[in-house]
Amino acid sequence: MVNMLDKHSRKINYLRLSVTDRCNLRCIYCMPKEGVDFTKNHELLTIEEMLKIVKSAAELGIKKVRITGGEPLLRNGVIELISKIKSLSKIQHVYLTTNGILLDHYMDQLIKVGLDGINISLDSLREDIFEKITRGGNLQTVLKSIETCDKEGIKIKLNTVILKGVNDKEILDFVYFSKKSGLDIRFIELMPIGESKGFKAFTTNELKNYIQKEMLLIPCEESIGDNGPAAYYKTTDSRNRIGFISPISHSFCHNCNRIRVTSEGFLKQCLHWKYGIDLKTLIRRGIGEEELKKVISDGIFNKPKEHNFKSQNEQTDIRLMSQIGG
Ligand code: SAM
Ligand code: SF4
Repeated sequence: MVNMLDKHSRKINYLRLSVTDRCNLRCIYCMPKEGVDFTKNHELLTIEEMLKIVKSAAELGIKKVRITGGEPLLRNGVIELISKIKSLSKIQHVYLTTNGILLDHYMDQLIKVGLDGINISLDSLREDIFEKITRGGNLQTVLKSIETCDKEGIKIKLNTVILKGVNDKEILDFVYFSKKSGLDIRFIELMPIGESKGFKAFTTNELKNYIQKEMLLIPCEESIGDNGPAAYYKTTDSRNRIGFISPISHSFCHNCNRIRVTSEGFLKQCLHWKYGIDLKTLIRRGIGEEELKKVISDGIFNKPKEHNFKSQNEQTDIRLMSQIGG
C-alpha cells in the first residue's frame, strides 16, 4: 500500500476534485450576484483528463476523492466520472459535496454508481433566509433531497456556515434539526475567501458556548485525522453528532491530508496560497503517465506547512470558493 508523505511528514490521501466553477445558486458569502467570469468549456478539464489525474493520484496514495464545485451536479458527465473513479481499485471512497438543489433528480444514478456519501450545504431552515443567503434557492427542494437521501440510506452530513446578523438566530434550530433527523451537522467557520469580506462570522468557541447554554456537548472519541478536520460532539439521547470545523480559530494544518484540483486543472496544495501546478497544460502537451505521477508527487511533497488566513498578501489565492471547491 502506497503512503505519500509531504515534507512535513503528513500522510496525503484525500483529493478534492472540482468539476465546474458554475453554480445554480449565488450564496452571498461565496459568489458575487453577477459578473463572475466563468471558465470556458474548452478550458475545463474533460472527464478523461480528470480521470488521468485521479488515476495518477491514486497510484501515489490518494484513497478518498470528493467531487465538488461550483455545483458539481451541473457538470455534464459527472455520474460517469464518479462511476469510473469508483472502479479504480486504489480509491476506497468517493463523496460528493452539493447544495442539494439537483440531488433528488440524480439520486437513483448516484446510488447506482455507488457513491459513498454526500455533504449537503444548508445555511438556513427558514425559507426567506435560505432564499436570501442563496440568492433565490428553494429550501423545500433541498429538504426533500435530504429526506430522500436519508430514506435511501445514503450517508449524509450537513454543512452550515453561520453569519452574524443573517442566520445566527438558527444555531439551536440546526442542532434540533440534527437531533430530530439523526443527521450529523458541521458548523464551518467562515474563511476569508471570495465574497466573505462583508460578513462577520462566529468562532467555534462562540458557537459551542452558545449551544452549551441550552444543552451539554459531549466530545466524541473520533476527532481530527482520517475522519477529517471536524471535532465532533454528541448531545444526550441522540443519534446525531454536532461537528465544528475551525480552520481559523483552531487551524488543523498539522493534520491536513488533502490536495485540491480545480475545474481548470490546477493542483492546489493549500486552500489559502495561490501556488500550485497547472496540470491541464501538462496533460494537453501530452505528458506521460509516469511523468504526471512525478509532477503530482512533487506537488504533494511541497505542500505548504500551513495557511495564513490571518494575514492576506500577494501570495494569497484570489479565487472564489466556487472556483476552488471548498
Ligand atoms: N456548491 C456546493 C455546495 O455548496 O455544497 C459545493 C461547493 S461549495 C464552494 C462547498 C462549501 O464551501 C459549501 O459548504 C460552502 O458553505 C462552503 N464555503 C463557501 N465559501 C466559504 C467561505 N468563505 N468560508 C467557509 N466555507 C465556505
Ligand atoms: Fe454555489 Fe456552493 Fe458557493 Fe453556494 S456555496 S454559491 S451553492 S458553490
